[in-house]
Amino acid sequence: PGHLYVVATPIGNLADLTDRARAILGAVDLVACEDTRTTGAMLTRLGLRRELIAYHDHNETEAAERLAEQLAAGKSVAVVSDAGTPALSDPGFRLVRACRRRQLPVVPVPGPCALTTALCAAGLPTNGFLFAGFLPPKSAARITFLTKYQDFDYTLALYESCHRIDKFAREIVDTLGPERVVCIAKELTKLHETFWVGPAGEVCDQLLKASRKGEFVVLIAPASFTL
Ligand code: SAM
Repeated sequence: PGHLYVVATPIGNLADLTDRARAILGAVDLVACEDTRTTGAMLTRLGLRRELIAYHDHNETEAAERLAEQLAAGKSVAVVSDAGTPALSDPGFRLVRACRRRQLPVVPVPGPCALTTALCAAGLPTNGFLFAGFLPPKSAARITFLTKYQDFDYTLALYESCHRIDKFAREIVDTLGPERVVCIAKELTKLHETFWVGPAGEVCDQLLKASRKGEFVVLIAPASFTL
């Protein structure tokens, strides 16, 4: 059978694509991607032309089965997402599972990931963490999550979009208190990369004064942690 390569791509800075990722993207038979325009543009910048297959939230289950059949028939496939590591708050999991169920070989090609990029430079505890991806959009569900984990011994790590980051920052202050140490990281590896680290009340004030355009990772330290 062919191999499935799970390939991480840059989250902002194109120079973060690894040499190995570039070589594999240039060698596989098919590239399964979320958005053929986004990935097509990246491959063009790399001087590569590949057959692209759309693989996204809306067709994931069905596309995973079809791709697994192609892999079983000997084709090699790279799965990528728009940015970062596939399968982490991105499509990819169902395809990997379909391969594991058939005992087809899966090869990770690690690289950029917004989660690890934020964690490694925030200064909040990294001995253990709970990554919960995107919280549900409704305030009540988000507050329930924060309340459930308010006494958790490890750092909480979340993804958030520009549309809800203000609201989420206020929910953190209101639920966990203004003294709770947090990190909000914006536009990682990009020109306007910013880290706000400190008590939630201060971070929230700084965030509200700044431009909230972009993508965010939110980290919340355990209650006992001080900077
Ligand atoms: N699979 C990707 C990864 O692990 O890097 C994440 C994909 S998820 C759909 C997109 C979210 O990841 C954004 O809303 C944001 O929370 C986070 N993210 C991605 N790129 C980022 C960046 N450059 N700076 C900050 N957060 C980023």
